[in-house]
Amino acid sequence: MRPYILAENNWKNLKNAKIELAVLPWGATEAHNFHLPYGTDIYEADLMAAESARLAWEKGAKLVVLPTIPFGVNTGQSDIYLDINMNPSTQYAVLNDIVEVLNRQKIYKLLIFNSHGGNNFKSIIRELGLKYPKMFICFANWFQSLDRTIYFDDPGDHADEMESSLLLHLKPDLVLPRENWGTGKEKKNKIEAFQEGWVWSERKWSQISEDTGVGNPALATKEKGESYFKAVTSKTGKLFSDLCKADIEDLYE
Ligand SMILES: [Zn+2]
Repeated sequence: MRPYILAENNWKNLKNAKIELAVLPWGATEAHNFHLPYGTDIYEADLMAAESARLAWEKGAKLVVLPTIPFGVNTGQSDIYLDINMNPSTQYAVLNDIVEVLNRQKIYKLLIFNSHGGNNFKSIIRELGLKYPKMFICFANWFQSLDRTIYFDDPGDHADEMESSLLLHLKPDLVLPRENWGTGKEKKNKIEAFQEGWVWSERKWSQISEDTGVGNPALATKEKGESYFKAVTSKTGKLFSDLCKADIEDLYE
């Protein structure tokens, strides 16, 4: 039993425990090119949060990883078979219920550990922060924690070389053989301002990619996945420790 994983722990251990930080991994259930499992973001969130927590726990951090939320915002993929959408307003409701428990039980630090680009917690955190002033709530996109071009030759956005490498390392039995991999070719918006990145609209996924991937997975390897996983989790593990140690009344210098 890993004591930092709530789903594996028990009341005998926990009834007198003092937890500083709760970590809530958040994934999505969606197609990832032809070859990766629908649960790709769930596996990434699960396994990265667990490893980061292990590293922090070994340095004395008192933290607990909550069960991973399996559904993310997939409003742009409504026509992709069995992509399951959870609306942002539902995410607010889910978070509100979890934060209410943590706040009542005096666990004042919550980190949302996000695996899915469509999830955006900023406005939710702003609103919950006002409602629960004692809570310190933050979210991390682990996939933005490192410069991907150091680890990958052709990084993309979704089911790309990075995610394919990670899954080859983490869940090799769930990755289809290479002859099934799509090229993950992405169509760009014709309007210049969108290409420059300062105007945003939701992309209808089926119009920008034929195989649901964005980014060519061709150069993915297990070895790249392993070294990236180690690098990310050592960074996120340090974040978990830093958050445990931090005095939320005295955060700035
Ligand atoms: Zn993904």
